[in-house]
Amino acid sequence: MMQQIQPLPADFVRDHNAWQAQRSQEHKDTAVQLADEGQTPKAMVVGCCDSRVQPAEVFNGDIGDFFVYRNIANAVPPVDHPQAVSTAAALEYGLTVLNIPHLIVMGHSRCGGVQGCHALCSGQAPELESPDSFVGNWLQILRPAYERMQRELQPGQDPLVALEQASVLQSLDHLLTHDFIRTRVEAGTLALHGTWLDIRSGEVSAYDPQIDAFVSLAA
Ligand SMILES: [Zn+2]
Repeated sequence: MMQQIQPLPADFVRDHNAWQAQRSQEHKDTAVQLADEGQTPKAMVVGCCDSRVQPAEVFNGDIGDFFVYRNIANAVPPVDHPQAVSTAAALEYGLTVLNIPHLIVMGHSRCGGVQGCHALCSGQAPELESPDSFVGNWLQILRPAYERMQRELQPGQDPLVALEQASVLQSLDHLLTHDFIRTRVEAGTLALHGTWLDIRSGEVSAYDPQIDAFVSLAA
């Protein structure tokens, strides 16, 4: 087993040392303070694993600002789902131990997980229907969002964008199946937010419940 673990390649080592060398004193002081006094993030984000999505970066965040949980396609299973544990554990820690006051679900454009869900649910991806496919099993969580998207798709709307956004709304619905989330929302100590990131422009849109649509934050 241990023979299968490799030292990091030289460029990783070089890049790390370059990063250390250019850190500002302010950044170092912040890290020391957070390490010694603990973290108090201003928001928790449920985002996708996608490397093009950097939730803290798009909100101009610093170390310690955002408690980020990632999975394929930013999916939140409902509380009684057999695959709920990992997501629920992160939520429970962030919301009941750290008492984070804002919870943001962040979907994004060109999401491979959502494309996979679309292919799976439209019968175009038999490999994802295999019981052995971890991705396929995970993406089944989004099937109700696919059905919602099919019902509500507007003329001219990109079905993949619609599904990315419907998935965010489904995750928000599923968050409320957890008692520790619903009670905090009802007490006003936790606010839920839905967002969608355009990875080409970096522009974030937020869900506006008044008009039931995602609206750009751009001023
Ligand atoms: Zn994604």
